[in-house]
Amino acid sequence: MNTSSSTRTRILTGDRPTGRLHVGHYFGSLENRVRLQNEGAEVYVVIADYQVLTDRDVAADLPGHVEELMLDYLAVGIDPERSVIFTHSAVPALNQLLLPFLSLVSVAELQRNPTVKDEIRHSSQAAVSGLMFTYPVHQAADILFCKADLVPVGRDQLPHLEVTRTVARRFNDRYTRPGAPVFPEPEALLSAAPLLLGTDGGKMSKSRGNAVQLATDADETARLIRGAKTDMERHITYEPERRPEVSSLVLLAALCQECDPAVLAEEIGGGGAARLKQVVTESVNERFAPVRARRACDYPA
Ligand code: ATP
Ligand code: MG
Repeated sequence: MNTSSSTRTRILTGDRPTGRLHVGHYFGSLENRVRLQNEGAEVYVVIADYQVLTDRDVAADLPGHVEELMLDYLAVGIDPERSVIFTHSAVPALNQLLLPFLSLVSVAELQRNPTVKDEIRHSSQAAVSGLMFTYPVHQAADILFCKADLVPVGRDQLPHLEVTRTVARRFNDRYTRPGAPVFPEPEALLSAAPLLLGTDGGKMSKSRGNAVQLATDADETARLIRGAKTDMERHITYEPERRPEVSSLVLLAALCQECDPAVLAEEIGGGGAARLKQVVTESVNERFAPVRARRACDYPA
């Protein structure tokens, strides 16, 4: 990360246009993007249209999904006057880096990536494609083409960021003069919610039917949270390792209310899962009401 006062920190991050953004995106990455933008960092946001086909055979309504992402970005406060939003397909030179970068990693390294393995488990492809194994290197191209030094991401992206750092290091070692590196080795910026769980207890994902979308309404939020997986213990506690589903719900409510999850869990305590879900629903609906109003262009007169 650039700490010099004369050079601005450069951020690169993004999302695949595979559906609407959800509260996991917000607390995992979007909130940090907006904060850094407002603090004066140079923010680049890639709509990763060339990575849609990693885990599916058809891209469905790609232009529609790109538009949905844009609306979500504008609604949460990414400001196109200050931040750059672009698609892979709009910047062909970025994609040209994939070939030289692929020469810098081994097949074994690509095959042992834990996030790729998880995505293969959830893939809807008839057969796993080469793109599934190589897209983390394409992400290295996303990050390094603009020489970003900080990447606000969720935890699933950490193995990919390691690939980017490896590519940068090997490129610099092989092709540049000592002391004159071409690429910075970027760092991940994790939030307080690096892995928010979905209603089924797995990673909240736009493609897995388990997400509370930013743009959804209050009633749909209540319905989704009512169906969220919890566990058999009545008393609510905040124990992320032992009780991941309950703790993720507590964390979501705490993030919305900007309070301590352990304290909130204690307050809910004997109210059990029913009270917890009520608190989560109210917290999400209250926190995202302004975002949802902007998303619907429902500006006050
Ligand atoms: P898809 O199911 O199509 O892969 P996704 O929900 O996983 O969608 P991505 O576009 O793959 O979303 O990820 C965009 C960014 O959001 C990444 O930085 C990722 O780490 C972050 N992110 C995604 N899901 C979560 C989550 N549940 N909690 C925290 N961060 C998340
Ligand atoms: Mg994903």
